[in-house]
Amino acid sequence: MQNGVMFQSFEWEMEAGGEFYNDLATLAPELKARGFNSVWLPPVYKATSTYDVGYGVYDLFDLGEFDQKGSVRTKYGTKEQLLACTEALHEAGIRVYMDVVLNHKAGADFSEVFSAVPVDPEDRTQTIGEARDIEGWTGFNFPGRQGKYSGFEWHFQHFTGVDYDHRSGETGVFRIEGKDKGWAYGVSNEKGNFDYLMFADIDHSQDDVREELEKWADWFIKTTGCDGFRLDAVKHIDDHFMTHFTEHVREKAGPGFYIFGEYWHPDLHHTGKYLYDVRYNMDIFDVGLHFHLAEAAGNEYYDLRGLFDNTVVKEFPQNAVTFVDNHDSQPGQALESWVGRHFKERAYVLILLRRDGYPCVFAGDYYGIKGGPSPQEDVQYDLNRVLELRRNFAYGEQKDYFQDEQCIGWSRSGDEEHPGLLAVVISMREESSIEMNFGPEQAGRHFRDYLDRFTDLLQLDEEGRASFPVKAGSVSCWVTYLGEEFQNGETRLKGHVARGEQEKLAGEAPREAEAPREAEA
Ligand code: CA
Repeated sequence: MQNGVMFQSFEWEMEAGGEFYNDLATLAPELKARGFNSVWLPPVYKATSTYDVGYGVYDLFDLGEFDQKGSVRTKYGTKEQLLACTEALHEAGIRVYMDVVLNHKAGADFSEVFSAVPVDPEDRTQTIGEARDIEGWTGFNFPGRQGKYSGFEWHFQHFTGVDYDHRSGETGVFRIEGKDKGWAYGVSNEKGNFDYLMFADIDHSQDDVREELEKWADWFIKTTGCDGFRLDAVKHIDDHFMTHFTEHVREKAGPGFYIFGEYWHPDLHHTGKYLYDVRYNMDIFDVGLHFHLAEAAGNEYYDLRGLFDNTVVKEFPQNAVTFVDNHDSQPGQALESWVGRHFKERAYVLILLRRDGYPCVFAGDYYGIKGGPSPQEDVQYDLNRVLELRRNFAYGEQKDYFQDEQCIGWSRSGDEEHPGLLAVVISMREESSIEMNFGPEQAGRHFRDYLDRFTDLLQLDEEGRASFPVKAGSVSCWVTYLGEEFQNGETRLKGHVARGEQEKLAGEAPREAEAPREAEA
């Protein structure tokens, strides 16, 4: 892959009318034209209701096919519409990544009585009472599906914990007792042991559970034809299970099947260790970089030189999915850490125009959040410009010029197929400029600011140097002047250039990014 971009197709507040798949199918060609080579779908399984974003998964085998939990469809539509949407995305040349929720199950069909022990919610390794019989919602027999695709029934022995005793009405964290039962070892050590997140927590140490989930994965990939998995909440799931699960999936679906996980922790000690523990079988979101971007957005005195320190993309560039915001960080959500509008464009420049990382653009930024914080049209306009830059100019060697705390930049040298040069300059608060050196072989080439903050052209001197300016609290992306118009016809360039220069540059017409990203397996 060269310069692929992922699109996160959903945000938390979007309409629950069941038109999501239809709308996304319609958008597919436009998304492809904008440079997106993959789309991350929300969880597509029957959840607790049609208002559930999808993370309260009830039945992994119900993709909007059975009358369960009050409807046939999910929040997003029916199985038929899902498959049509996937097909439309594939037809447009877009890969489809599915959100896979294996940590818990919700909305049980019946309760069961079993022995459990209450633990301290802040330190789940500490019991705070005697083991006793509680009544928990752990029974799943899916009466609406009647055993189609799988006859597996879930019972309390397939779970490690619940948060509610129906008998006493008590809430808390209850660890289910039994032979070979307990919290998983290979999970985050936050809260002592962070196996339990919510609902009925799946016990991946049980042989029949592992078998069932692998069988489900085979069925799911075959049924949907998806090209990858986004694994939800992996810090709450035993890493030994994940290692074997991802190996199983790749074995069945092929080495190009792309797998990435959500390990929500800003600290590289945690995310880096996780990558090691799962044998680098998956890429992970760069949560550390997200928090740095959010910090920079909230503080104009943020030191930009440290922006990439201790990030996944810097230390594990082959395993990083970079993002600015997502459905969890958006306003009003549990993990709210929103990058404000004034910094959005710069944040996307910082993930889209650099060499490393597989960048993901959030629907809440691109299409807006329903009832959300800012008029969205101008954000999409900005993002489209940055996506054009990624398609046409973000290639080849990257040279960093992290000049001072409030102004950083970098250059891209282009490559054989994309010979255009790029100079990015970002300012936190003051007008500034950075001298960059493209080498004597580029002497005399002209640049203009693709983002139109400046209208004058710049020219490299005989050594191949120029000083690239940026306005206060802004970003400029200087690219080699390409004549009157880009190949895609969207962007008419202003100004003029000497006749000889025009001819010299005529061979530089930019191309579309083509090949989809292959997994970095
Ligand atoms: Ca768990």
